[in-house]
Amino acid sequence: MLGFQLTPEQIEIQKSAREFALKEILPVAWHYDAVDDTPMPVLRKAWEKGIMNCDIPRQYGGKGYGLLENVLITEELAAACAGLATSIFDNSLGMEPLRLSTNDALKQKYFPLIANNFKLISFATSEPTLGSDVAGIRCLARRDGDDYILNGTKYWVTNGGIADYLSVFATADPEAKHDGICAFVVEKSWEGVSVGRRIPKLGQRGSNTVG
Ligand SMILES: Cc1cc2nc3c(=O)[nH]c(=O)nc-3n(C[C@H](O)[C@H](O)[C@H](O)COP(=O)(O)OP(=O)(O)OC[C@H]3O[C@@H](n4cnc5c(N)ncnc54)[C@H](O)[C@@H]3O)c2cc1C
Repeated sequence: MLGFQLTPEQIEIQKSAREFALKEILPVAWHYDAVDDTPMPVLRKAWEKGIMNCDIPRQYGGKGYGLLENVLITEELAAACAGLATSIFDNSLGMEPLRLSTNDALKQKYFPLIANNFKLISFATSEPTLGSDVAGIRCLARRDGDDYILNGTKYWVTNGGIADYLSVFATADPEAKHDGICAFVVEKSWEGVSVGRRIPKLGQRGSNTVG
């Protein structure tokens, strides 16, 4: 039989996210919205409190929460500030391609790094010429021996200005449309990676968005 009641553990997760939202987000949200800045100390506290990265699988040092637990957390944070909730949950979006991939070596490398350290990872699909129409991706992935060389521009990247890593979507074959798209973990410190300006927005201004 289907159960629609939250389990005691889920109620506890929801309660702890609500406490965090009321204590750490609500009092400062208006300020960061007014000055159009992202509060790194709040993001770091979210990591310390364990309400970030909750979907990293247990075998890689994470909590292994499912979608419902993540929704419960994000709902509570977003009630205090939609922008900060976006920036806090963005790590889960950035890690999703890795979580879905079969590349265990990459998982072994990045999941424990992100679970055990305050690290941010962004999700970079959109480009200056496309958002939802991902089949039109222009960022190219060219094979070079054992490596791929990426060449392109991403836009609207949440946390892009403050992240350590980026999940970058690129096409290995533009003719193949969506079938040509691959995702790559890119470290911001790597040669050739540059970050554009912070995009001024009408809302969610506490969330860093760059292009
Ligand atoms: C605050 C913010 C943060 C973001 N963060 C990220 C991020 O971290 N990473 C990232 O990759 N991107 C990010 N984005 C980009 C976001 O994913 C795109 O803006 C979104 O996918 C929409 O794409 P678009 O802007 O090209 O709009 P379009 O796809 O051009 O849509 C414009 C309008 O056309 C409508 N439309 C689109 N297609 C159709 C269709 N087939 N039929 C009918 N109507 C249609 C849409 O509903 C919309 O009203 C962010 C955007 C914002 C505003």
